[in-house]
Amino acid sequence: MNKTSEKSFLPLDILSFQDESKAVVDFISDYYKNIEKYPVQSIVDPGYLSSKLPDSAPCTPDSLEDVLNDVNQHILPGLTHWQSPNFFAYYQASSSTAGFLGEMLCSAFNVVGFNWISSPAATELESVVVDWMGKMLKLPSSFLFSGTGGGVIHGTTCEAVVCTLAAARDKALKELDSNWANITKFVVYASDQTHFTFQKAAKLVGIPPSNFRFLQTSFATEFAMSPEVLRSAIKDDIRSGLVPLYICATVGTTACGAVDPIADLGKIANEYKLWLHIDAAHAGNACICPEFRHFLDGVELASSLSMNPHKWFLTNMDCCCLWLKEPRFLIDSLSSNPEYLENNASKSNVVVDYKDWQVTLSRRFRALKLWIVIRRIGVENLMHHIRSDVNLAKQFEALIKEDDRFEIVVPRRIALVLFRLKPEQGLDGSELNRKLLDAINYSGRAFMTQGTVSGIYAIRCVVGATLTEERHMNDLWSLIQEKAQLVLFQCSQ
Ligand SMILES: *Cc1c(COP(=O)(O)O)cnc(C)c1O
Repeated sequence: MNKTSEKSFLPLDILSFQDESKAVVDFISDYYKNIEKYPVQSIVDPGYLSSKLPDSAPCTPDSLEDVLNDVNQHILPGLTHWQSPNFFAYYQASSSTAGFLGEMLCSAFNVVGFNWISSPAATELESVVVDWMGKMLKLPSSFLFSGTGGGVIHGTTCEAVVCTLAAARDKALKELDSNWANITKFVVYASDQTHFTFQKAAKLVGIPPSNFRFLQTSFATEFAMSPEVLRSAIKDDIRSGLVPLYICATVGTTACGAVDPIADLGKIANEYKLWLHIDAAHAGNACICPEFRHFLDGVELASSLSMNPHKWFLTNMDCCCLWLKEPRFLIDSLSSNPEYLENNASKSNVVVDYKDWQVTLSRRFRALKLWIVIRRIGVENLMHHIRSDVNLAKQFEALIKEDDRFEIVVPRRIALVLFRLKPEQGLDGSELNRKLLDAINYSGRAFMTQGTVSGIYAIRCVVGATLTEERHMNDLWSLIQEKAQLVLFQCSQ
């Protein structure tokens, strides 16, 4: 019997798909044509949506037209427009048409390549693409499949940090006779600028929070981790009978874009046999350009490195590349081989089974997307894309410097400009800048976020949305000046 004839609807009707997908593509095109008209940051009130939608699911199908109308009316107002050229907040999630097309194909095949046999191309393309990316970053061959290491694509940095911490933990436990009581002795190190992801991950793998060391940074090092401070913390911990385990270094911190000195930290890591992970989530993207590659100098001393192409590499969410010098430690920690997944390829030990390189079993075919982005855009254009954003950030920084009501709080390293209105005549700097930022964001004409370093509240402007051009930067500067005048006037009343 024909299976579909029993159903009153066709869940995968390729004929209606042609029309419906065209309607969605048209919808997307209109969205992008109009994107500058929407307030960048959504200004809806919490709970705005539930009153606008029915309180239970429809029993019968709604038309696509109705659905898209609702997206227009009810969803768009509650979106913060991450793809707006006036989005300068957090770190961007940059999209591209190549990224869209890659996602479409990923979704179309909808394979779940947890091991090699479950979809050989998904695994093999991933291994090829992480090597491509690794070569673009000039990683040593010790991190590449074509050398002695290897890589994997996770969804996010948080997963990469959890997995490498688990690998480091289990490697060290083994060295301590696999006595799990020793987990209470493990100590992990990062700077006080490190992304909260690290803290979350360390908690998840069972490191006692009392053994998290957040090493203090300051203006003196432009908020980079100090090797001397690290060394003395490690020595103290060893003296106390603890076991130093893992250092998380950052290339491009979130609040101010600080870059930890990888080579110096790497030497210490090797001397005391710690796992050194480099979190280059955002700034790692820039390291494909020779002029920024020096931020990764010393990477050969690290155990692992991760970066997010979904941030600045025109690769739609989600995509985080993780490379390891010794993937076997990750596999030792994360592999499991239930009987129902048994197969000859895995037994032969000549294939990669990516389920053993990550938290989850099921996984998306993200490699297809990244491969399509790199192929359709090309390395030269990718470099150009990074450089033009950096130049816009540089010009913006120059404008701030020219206006003596403002100051740069921490010098720009790449594409993040951290600035503030100088506190004047007894006005509180934090309050002044908080008001300025609120006024800018509330206008809907641009969206930035804040960063605090050494107790100084400042405004972060990151250049990196795909559509941002010079005119948007000029508009942003006009907007800042206009609101600054207003806020200074109000505060002086
Ligand atoms: C964005 C960012 C993260 C978090 O990345 P996810 O992929 O969202 O987990 C971590 N560290 C740094 C330095 C970042 O910029």
